[in-house]
Amino acid sequence: MQRLTATLDRIDRKGYGAYKDLQGSYELKGFTLFVDRVQRDPFAPPSLIRVRTQENRFDPALFDNSVRQVAFEDFLTRSVDGALRRAVRGNRGSGGSGRIEIQRPSQVVLPRTSMVAEPGFVEARMVVGLPAQGRTVDARAARAMLLEELPRVVREALTPAGVDEREARTHVEVVEDADHLRGLLPSLGLVAFVADGAVLPRESGASDRPLREEAVPFESPEEFRIDVELPNRGSVSGMGIPEGVTLVAGGGFHGKSTLLSALAWGVYEHVPGDGRERVVARSDAVKVRAEDGRSVAGVDISAMIGVLPGGRSTRNFSTTNASGSTSQAANIAEALEIGTSLLLVDEDTSATNFMIRDERMRELVQKEPISPFIDLVRPLRDSLNVSTIVVVGGVGDYLDVADHVLLMEDYEPHDATNRARKVREEFPARIPPGAGEVSPPKDRRIRASSIDLRRGKRETARGKGLHAIELGRERVDLSYLEQLAEAGQTEAIARIIGEFAAGEKSRGVEEIVREALTAIQRNGLGSLGNFRGHPGELSLPRSQEIAAAVNRIRSLEATTGP
Ligand code: ADP
Ligand code: MG
Repeated sequence: MQRLTATLDRIDRKGYGAYKDLQGSYELKGFTLFVDRVQRDPFAPPSLIRVRTQENRFDPALFDNSVRQVAFEDFLTRSVDGALRRAVRGNRGSGGSGRIEIQRPSQVVLPRTSMVAEPGFVEARMVVGLPAQGRTVDARAARAMLLEELPRVVREALTPAGVDEREARTHVEVVEDADHLRGLLPSLGLVAFVADGAVLPRESGASDRPLREEAVPFESPEEFRIDVELPNRGSVSGMGIPEGVTLVAGGGFHGKSTLLSALAWGVYEHVPGDGRERVVARSDAVKVRAEDGRSVAGVDISAMIGVLPGGRSTRNFSTTNASGSTSQAANIAEALEIGTSLLLVDEDTSATNFMIRDERMRELVQKEPISPFIDLVRPLRDSLNVSTIVVVGGVGDYLDVADHVLLMEDYEPHDATNRARKVREEFPARIPPGAGEVSPPKDRRIRASSIDLRRGKRETARGKGLHAIELGRERVDLSYLEQLAEAGQTEAIARIIGEFAAGEKSRGVEEIVREALTAIQRNGLGSLGNFRGHPGELSLPRSQEIAAAVNRIRSLEATTGP
């Protein structure tokens, strides 16, 4: 502590570069402060620090298995975030002076690099804007930040005295239950589960928080209701969605898309209070949509789309500007390539001509390369064991291909499977659904050399917020990845792609992803990329999103076969 004060006194009012002398570690009261990297000036990206407590006096049960550890670290990150808001004054001069921040978590719980909870300590990784007046060191402000604000944050967020341990326990137990629940799905023959009482609607289109007022809690139809036993919560009842093809029908604005979206997020655990704590789907579920304008590199979409104008084959389809239907076909083919057991499709975000083609159009349009999705859902199930949950309000033909029909009415789901059967008998579809086979898309290999990381004199592969990645001079657009949860995942994906691109080899997408995730499992998420300082802003992405990001690189070149 004396050394820290002495250094600060010495560099007071000097040029900002003098802050470099702070680099190092300091024993403060109850914790160690590491100053890992010092920013160049007050306007540059902030400095990186870590605080590590000298002991971990939390109940070891809070982090005694890997799921609990992730949950507890998530809890502590949120706890630090809250304490920072209370304790840190904020703006203290020029540029970023005065700010102290930790990685901002979304509504989902993920392995992150912002926090480490070990039996002997807990460590939080943060960024700090070291304070300046103009470009000169403001030591008084720095002292207030490092010797008053930070210790208060440690006290209030990283020690049992400051943290509500009951809340921590609930957090860990809720996450453990959800993880367990998802693990039960395959053996129960289910692809998803929505607990009774769940709150699915969100606050607004721009917020992932729960709708507070007037939210109608979920209640399973009798026919779909099952009871499951969870390790902490005990017996829980809710709607089990079986494997196969499930149609979600209903009038406009009756909650269909809200249900589907909750299922899409059900690949992750949610924080207590989210409303979707016990809403889970298969961990490899992929929501697929139309995304016209995206680029596609050498993807086999032949199962969905036959020969294109000019005799162009779709076994090896590339374009810099996909149409609604071809983009959706590519999204499905790529999901199958990386592996999925559940497709989620919403009419709201689908290309109409991909979903269906009626009798008149079949008559009028002879040159139609697209096999509509309605002809594919059953072969997907039968040949590849891939289930589908599809939201359709307008096209009754889908009744012919559904194993189960859910009808949403005033936000309440009803079992309409039997009624749908009667409707089908009374109004038979004029075109029976096609019954073919779909084969898995054929292999392709991505050329590492097609990704150019050069940007001027430097090489870059980094996340730009939630929805973009910068690779050299290219900006990869991830706006349509509906299951990408937070910027930390985007950053991790950027680094994974950067590491692949730095190599020489061509690899299959699945191989790229598998190798990256294996390395992360072995060496930790923090091992990604070359850091100067701590890697405190990464969250673990799913295979599906890593692959999807690779697939959206515009310069990507793929070759087929080994
Ligand atoms: P659909 O896809 O059937 O047209 P949406 O799922 O888009 O309908 O929902 C329409 C509106 O109703 C949205 O504003 C949504 O937030 C709200 N909503 C959905 N489910 C519920 C619910 N259980 N309780 C209250 N509001 C809901
Ligand atoms: Mg909708």
